[in-house]
Amino acid sequence: MPRNENLPGVPLGQLLGEANLLLICLHCQWRETYDLQKVISQLQARGVNGPLIGICDARHHVRQTCPRCGSQKWETRPDYGPYVPPAT
Ligand SMILES: [Zn+2]
Repeated sequence: MPRNENLPGVPLGQLLGEANLLLICLHCQWRETYDLQKVISQLQARGVNGPLIGICDARHHVRQTCPRCGSQKWETRPDYGPYVPPAT
């Protein structure tokens, strides 16, 4: 089955505790995993009902630009691997 880019995806609230959010730049493939609980908290702080946002729809709520290429075209996916905080 071809992937439908318009599907909202599994709600973040349902993924909580099972996956984190993988953010991928569609322009240059830069990627970073974000703690899902923090992502939901940030959405809530903006008045968005974070737990109900689909993992694929979450890309519409990303406000940052890509640190490598400056693009704002994102893809968001669940990341089921162990959470590794970004190196700073
Ligand atoms: Zn990029």
